[in-house]
Amino acid sequence: MTNLLRTLVFDSKVSLTLADTTETVAEAIKLHKLSRSSALVLGKTLSAMTFMSACLKEETGEISLSVKSDGEGGDIGVSGNKKLFLRGYIAQPDASERADEKQVFGKTGSLTIVRDDGYSRPFVGACALPEIGGVDEAFEEYYRISEQLPTYMKTAVEFDGEGKLVFAGAAVLQPLPFADENTLKKTRETSLETLLDAVKEKGVEACAETYFAPDKTVWETRESLYKCNCSREYLTRVLVTLGKEQMHRIIEEDGAVRVHCHYCNKDYQFTEEDEKRIFP
Ligand SMILES: [Zn+2]
Repeated sequence: MTNLLRTLVFDSKVSLTLADTTETVAEAIKLHKLSRSSALVLGKTLSAMTFMSACLKEETGEISLSVKSDGEGGDIGVSGNKKLFLRGYIAQPDASERADEKQVFGKTGSLTIVRDDGYSRPFVGACALPEIGGVDEAFEEYYRISEQLPTYMKTAVEFDGEGKLVFAGAAVLQPLPFADENTLKKTRETSLETLLDAVKEKGVEACAETYFAPDKTVWETRESLYKCNCSREYLTRVLVTLGKEQMHRIIEEDGAVRVHCHYCNKDYQFTEEDEKRIFP
């Protein structure tokens, strides 16, 4: 299902990204058994990272985020790739229901992004969490400080009266470097809340057509979803780099090498049998 749109608006001087991330956030809630307040913060972060993943240029591109803060949610990790496969975790999946976004996300701390666009060296950027605001403000601060790109971002995670997820999404406007003052003003005055409401009601494409006269020559629609890329094959390659001796020692001490994937909550176990197969 198409749930992400990227195009140019305001005379092709501003990039617009709209995403309906409801399915992605629903999967995260299911996998991690998130409380509503943990789901709010992780869901907003996953939605923002869906946008960042959509900005990757190279086919092998990957991006990951790490938030370390004093928030009730604890550390947050989210990764995405060019295929728009997103995955993430929050250290405390069961933050108290009464805690608001800021209390779960944290007042002081840092946000770090590692972007590997397939070139020789990954780009690493970071910022301190801003004093005011939550997830959206932290991403805007990151873009301002670390990438020197003015960025207007709004993410949403909405629940019904019973606490069931009804919608999640992201709306982002990013003026291109040559945007003039009048365009910047129009960008600032655009209500991202209104755009998100329209995405919820009629989808990303109809939303863009309703509120803008988008440049159809750069109209890109895609699908993003929650998908972890861990596998036994991948972990086997990691064990090869660990080396025969190390693996043998762990198996002797613990009976098996146990690996837990934070992103999808899957447990892997490698026994003596596997050791013989990996290191014949
Ligand atoms: Zn996994």
